[in-house]
Amino acid sequence: MKLAVYAKPGQVGLVESEKPQIEDSQDAIIRIVRTCVCGSDLWRYRDETMQPGTRNSGHEAIGIVEEVGSDITTVKPGDFVIAPFTHGCGNCDACRAGFDGTCDHHIGDNWSGGVQAEYIRFQYANWALVKIPGQPSDYSEGMLKSLLALADVMPTGYHAARVANVKPGDKVVVIGDGAVGQCAVIAARMLGASQIIMMSRHADRQALALEFGATAIVAERGAEGIAKVREILGGGADAALECVGTEASIDQALGVLHNGGRIGYVGVPHYDKHSLGSTFAQNITIGGGAASVTTYNKQVLLKAVLDGAINPGKVFTTSYPLEEIDQAYQDMDQRKSIKSLLILE
Ligand SMILES: [Zn+2]
Ligand SMILES: [Zn+2]
Repeated sequence: MKLAVYAKPGQVGLVESEKPQIEDSQDAIIRIVRTCVCGSDLWRYRDETMQPGTRNSGHEAIGIVEEVGSDITTVKPGDFVIAPFTHGCGNCDACRAGFDGTCDHHIGDNWSGGVQAEYIRFQYANWALVKIPGQPSDYSEGMLKSLLALADVMPTGYHAARVANVKPGDKVVVIGDGAVGQCAVIAARMLGASQIIMMSRHADRQALALEFGATAIVAERGAEGIAKVREILGGGADAALECVGTEASIDQALGVLHNGGRIGYVGVPHYDKHSLGSTFAQNITIGGGAASVTTYNKQVLLKAVLDGAINPGKVFTTSYPLEEIDQAYQDMDQRKSIKSLLILE
């Protein structure tokens, strides 16, 4: 089968690889129908220290179950499924508390990667997979995009809003205009925020955020951006949803909140500062981490997509066959695409 690997920093290519096999009674083999490039894949793609031939870090897919292990009772070969990147076991303390993104059984390679490929071995398939009614051919391309968004970016944006406890009437600021930030706008609206400010400097991303429910855009950054937000809101925000993962974006989140405000952060941290005590004087509540993908899909998000209540698939602004994966990465890296979709036949 074909598998994407990082050929060298800034270049992705396909290699022939062994088709994965069932190795555990809770595994499923899935034939990928749609996958994509994640903002987090770009960190690996750009990494100058990366070893040539490293397996892709892609982790978002929908597909058809091809084979299941002996303990799988929830899906069967032929079923159409969302493959959440989180692989929650469904039984540990974290999963039972609704935090399958940080399942206690995440060890070794039991964490998504390598799904930019024709087939994957999916661990903890019995609980973690989310069954989609019908078959891919029953859905429009737009609906397939929204279903794929449920493998990561939509639940991740939703997680930011949930852990920040966004509630009706809240004033919310979203930091990060990539696919996750866009989905955080959708989530803030779902949870009843009355004002949603997207911080963005790019016209295409500003337009999408407004379509998803943002009520204002702030293009300025730093102290200027904070002042602009406070001017629009007539004070500080109730919640800041941080969807980037840099120190500057965390500072932005802290700066826009009123004392007693809440941060939900889902940008994978690329900083090591900000000790816990640094927010004491502001009484800030901070939550964040990997999203509860399976939990949210089963509770609310799959139904919202199937009902047409939300359309997160609009974050996919360009599509490519798997063979053109290098272009898919390049276009996202150069911001020609908000999120690149990969189509497998
Ligand atoms: Zn992702
Ligand atoms: Zn678990």
